[in-house]
Amino acid sequence: MLFKELNLIEPILKAVEYEKYEIPTPIQEQAIPPILEGRDLLGCAQTGTGKTAAFAVPILQILSSEPINTKKVRPIRALILTPTRELAVQIMESFEAYGRYTNIKNCVVFGGVAQRPQTDKLQAGVDVLIATPGRLLDLINQKYIDLQYVKCFVLDEADRMLDMGFGQDVKKVIKLVPKNRQTLLFSATMPSEIEKLANNLLRDPVKVSVTPVSSTVDTIEQSVYFVDKKDKRTLLVSILKDKAVESALVFTRTKHGADRVAKALITAGIKTQAIHGDKSQGARQYALNSFKEKKIRVLVATDIAARGIDIDKLSHVFNFDLPDSPETYVHRIGRTGRAGLEGVSITFCDEDEKKYLKGVEKLIGKKIPVVENHKFSLRDSAPTTVKSAEKRTPHTIVPQNRTSQNKASQNRSMQNNSQSRTSNNTQNSSGSQNGFSRNNAGSQNKSTQNNASQDKRVVQNKKPFSSTPRDKKMPPRRGNT
Ligand code: AMP
Repeated sequence: MLFKELNLIEPILKAVEYEKYEIPTPIQEQAIPPILEGRDLLGCAQTGTGKTAAFAVPILQILSSEPINTKKVRPIRALILTPTRELAVQIMESFEAYGRYTNIKNCVVFGGVAQRPQTDKLQAGVDVLIATPGRLLDLINQKYIDLQYVKCFVLDEADRMLDMGFGQDVKKVIKLVPKNRQTLLFSATMPSEIEKLANNLLRDPVKVSVTPVSSTVDTIEQSVYFVDKKDKRTLLVSILKDKAVESALVFTRTKHGADRVAKALITAGIKTQAIHGDKSQGARQYALNSFKEKKIRVLVATDIAARGIDIDKLSHVFNFDLPDSPETYVHRIGRTGRAGLEGVSITFCDEDEKKYLKGVEKLIGKKIPVVENHKFSLRDSAPTTVKSAEKRTPHTIVPQNRTSQNKASQNRSMQNNSQSRTSNNTQNSSGSQNGFSRNNAGSQNKSTQNNASQDKRVVQNKKPFSSTPRDKKMPPRRGNT
């Protein structure tokens, strides 16, 4: 399917072309038509699937087709509620990008920065408001925001919203938007709380599901190093010394851990910054921009700080610590291998974390290949396929399940249109890949090659992908968290 088959208006088609998107992703293909018809929608999709365009494009089209009273200040007609500032900024950038040839005005509000620039923009009139819950309610209380004309309400990353303790704020916002509205709810996972929320919020929704959280993107090459906790930093430095790791997002479980890792990398001469909840909004945005602009090679982050980070060309994700929730692992590694590009995920697992690794492998339904014989190998964790006397290559991956690993390392076209629509409005593409295609996104850089030995694969220098990134440069922001 092509974008022009989605009944999009010319200014939006032109913007999509400007972004160099060739074909809609599965979530876009499935969500755009019913949203244009005014239907409510329940979308089970994580970031990286193209879900922002899946709601931004039809909303822009709906709003553009309504007449605007030029004599009055524009009322807010669409509200997008999202849990983090980073995500809010990215959604705003998407609305700007896809709406560049329309006259729709957007505004983003989030806490931790001065409110004046936000309120000035609001008072000039905006059509689309993208907001995090706290600052939104704050500005509503101060009467800068009136939600009575909202006709389209999007609740983005609903599971994360509840995880982060915004449940009460979300309920307050829901009470303030008109009952007669179109509602779109997106969530990466569908625990029972979200299902309950969806039942209360949505009217006869179309259900769309892509890339369920348990399916890790096939273009991501995953591996695990068994290593002692105390050796993790040195191991990370040794891997990052390899210039083939062009850009790396390193996840740690704690804020202190993030600072300690960043310090060790900086000491080793690797350009690094850390982002986490204790850093000011300005510092976080600055670090993110430096990373996107390639001024630094490594960004160390905690899960919440990194949620929704959209970096077009991220080659490596490191799980410095394994998360206790397997879903978090899937979210983390989903930061690479985006938009149909390839990426590498490297996980460090110490003795205490083996139980978490088991959980991850159970969720994703496959074994993660083990990198053996590195300098800091845990004695007892080497799989039996490699004998101790054997001559060892540094960083040798031993696939635990060769079939799935070989499958995962093949070049692939990311477009997967094979999923069928069902007539009862439940459109499910479970197991499908993200399904992106940019007209110059390269997938030719796959670096993993089979070793002479049938059992082993050597981790080779991996050249990341070559897509045309959207220009997302942002000025550093000031303010407190
Ligand atoms: P999202 O899931 O909305 O965070 O999108 C992830 C990335 O995919 C963003 O960098 C988008 O610019 C990009 N993207 C969205 N739709 C498409 C498409 N149809 N083709 C290629 N890239 C896309």
